Amino acid sequence: MQQTEHQTIIDLIPAYALNSLDAEDAEMVAQHLAACPDCQAELAAFAGVVDALPLAAADVEPSTALKEQLMRQIRVKTGEETAVSPQTTPPTIWQQFIRALSDFIAGPRWQPAAVLAVLVLLIGSFFIWQRASVPPTQFVLTATEAAPEAQGIIEVMGDGRQATLTVTGLPELDPANQYQLWLIQDGQRTSGGIFSVQADGSQTITIDAPQPLPDYAAFGITIEPAGGSPGPTGERVLGFNL
Ligand SMILES: [Zn+2]
Repeated sequence: MQQTEHQTIIDLIPAYALNSLDAEDAEMVAQHLAACPDCQAELAAFAGVVDALPLAAADVEPSTALKEQLMRQIRVKTGEETAVSPQTTPPTIWQQFIRALSDFIAGPRWQPAAVLAVLVLLIGSFFIWQRASVPPTQFVLTATEAAPEAQGIIEVMGDGRQATLTVTGLPELDPANQYQLWLIQDGQRTSGGIFSVQADGSQTITIDAPQPLPDYAAFGITIEPAGGSPGPTGERVLGFNL
C-alpha cells in the first residue's frame, strides 16, 4: 500500500467512525482497514472515544441566553445575520438608575432593611393617626358675667365616662345654695355633680357621666338650691360649648 493512501484513509477514520462518510469513501476506508493494522488501531481508539462521548457529556440544558447567543453566532457564521453586539445601544441614565434601584431593592442584604423601613413608616403612621383621632381630653370652661374670676377645667380619663372637674375663683355660696354641673346633649341637661367651693373658691370633684364626656356638646355650671335641681334653674357661672 502507498503511504499517501494510508495518510488519506487515516484522516477519514474519524468520519468513518461517526458513520458520516458517503458510501464510496466508506468502502475505500473499509478496504484499506482490512489490510492496515495501524488504521485498525486508529479506528479502535477513535471508536472508544466515540462510545465514551455520550457518557462524558452530561445532558445539560443550556440557559436561554446561552442558547440564544449560540444560535446568533451560528446564524452570523452562516451569513443569515450580520454580527451585532447584544447591547445595541448603551443604556440611558434613566435605565441605569432604574436598574441600580432594582438591584438595590432586590439585594438580599437590603431586603430586611427595606421591610423594616416600611414597618416603621406604617407603625408611625398608625400612631399619628391614632393621636389625631383621639378626642380632646380636656374641656376648658369659660367664665360668665356672674363670676368673672372663675376658671374651670374638665379632664377626661379612662373610657371617657370618668372625669374630674376642677374650679377656681368661684364665690362661696350661701349654705342654702350649691353649684351644679350640667352635661348638655341635644338640649337635654344631665346633672354631672353638685358641689360647694372651699373658702379660696376652689374645688375638685369626680364626674361619672352616663356617656363619654366628649359625646356632649356643652357643659355648664349653675347656682342651684342645696342638693341640686332636676334641671338648671339658677344663674350660669361657667360654661363650655363645642
Ligand atoms: Zn492505514
